[in-house]
Amino acid sequence: MIVEENVALAPLTTFKIGGPARYFVEARTLDDVREALAFARERGLQIFVLGGGSNILIADEGFDGLVLRLRFEDVEFKTTDSETLATVGAGVDWDVFVARAVARGCVGVELLSGIPGTVGGAVAANLGAYCAECSDTFVQAEVIDTQDPASALQTFTARDCTFSYHDSFFSHHPYRHIILRALFRFASDSARPQAYHDSRFNFADLTQEKGRTPTLQEVREAVIKVRGEKGVLSTSYRSAGSFFHMPFVSRATYEEVQRRARVLDAEKEAQLRPWAWEQPDGTYKIAPGFLLEYTRFQKGYARGAVGISPKHTLSVITSDGATAQEVVALACAMHDEVEKLFSISLEREVKYIGIKSEAQECVQFF
Ligand SMILES: Cc1cc2nc3c(=O)[nH]c(=O)nc-3n(C[C@H](O)[C@H](O)[C@H](O)COP(=O)(O)OP(=O)(O)OC[C@H]3O[C@@H](n4cnc5c(N)ncnc54)[C@H](O)[C@@H]3O)c2cc1C
Repeated sequence: MIVEENVALAPLTTFKIGGPARYFVEARTLDDVREALAFARERGLQIFVLGGGSNILIADEGFDGLVLRLRFEDVEFKTTDSETLATVGAGVDWDVFVARAVARGCVGVELLSGIPGTVGGAVAANLGAYCAECSDTFVQAEVIDTQDPASALQTFTARDCTFSYHDSFFSHHPYRHIILRALFRFASDSARPQAYHDSRFNFADLTQEKGRTPTLQEVREAVIKVRGEKGVLSTSYRSAGSFFHMPFVSRATYEEVQRRARVLDAEKEAQLRPWAWEQPDGTYKIAPGFLLEYTRFQKGYARGAVGISPKHTLSVITSDGATAQEVVALACAMHDEVEKLFSISLEREVKYIGIKSEAQECVQFF
């Protein structure tokens, strides 16, 4: 195991900003991970596991602990008559894995094409798009406990991971458990559903010939095309994807949001429909981008080197010279304006690493 000091983290994130890691280890074996954990423990250092850096914001001062980057990059597929199992290292690029699964006719991840990050990060985030989620095909993960690294590896089943919308057990215990490998189960192509839940991907629209079921590869290409048009491919902008989670609210709150939106601008409310979706439990999922449309933080908003994607209201973007402090300030202002107008407190999807005070940043910027 090689421990590097003062390693720049900005190039390892999709925002391309933030300071260095005090210590940095690339782990290729279980021994490397155990040694890194022991190194951190001896020095009382906090540990942060870095995946593809596509859902994090690193403080300008950097991270005053040990950053562990997993290079577990093994992928093994086993196919029987009815299913395929894939064991995948946590450091494998998520979209490379999806591409390989699609090429083998594995059903279940094709709608999750074109999303940056690693397999470990995808499990931790329960990555999702177009009504599909990582947890749809996830079976279990091999996990090490950072507080007891010498003990046997643990197996976390889907149940242990307590997956929910863009969330998992791991998001709530970010420094405690490290996912080393994950096992996925796929139905074979012949068992494919006749339609996708998301209306953007109706089979009929995906092929030239009406009525023909598109191949998994055609679905993947359609998803990547739509993501490109929305500016949410890793090559589109420097961002961390959607900055805020979709809020789930009661029916009464949904009706109040609708009432306030109509008072503010009824025409806009009508134009932006659908902006809320009723859930089986009677709550409503609201598009945060809709709420932001009533603030000054609209598509294309820019201030200095930070701003909002011209194609996607929820994507905070950066350019050369941007600081994490500015991103925090912008996000804080976006949050506060939505709360003032709609009494909804947006929750951050992007994880802050090493960032100490949000409130102070907000005041400084505006
Ligand atoms: C352009 C763009 C589009 C995006 N679109 C989507 C989308 O459609 N849907 C969606 O869900 N997300 C989306 N995202 C967000 C992001 O891609 C996902 O959340 C991704 O799964 C993060 O993985 P990562 O490896 O980059 O994790 P990182 O950003 O490196 O880390 C995120 C968190 O996961 C933890 N983590 C990473 N690896 C491990 C591990 N092995 N064990 C334990 N914890 C770990 C980290 O410690 C950290 O807390 C998008 C991001 C970008 C930049």
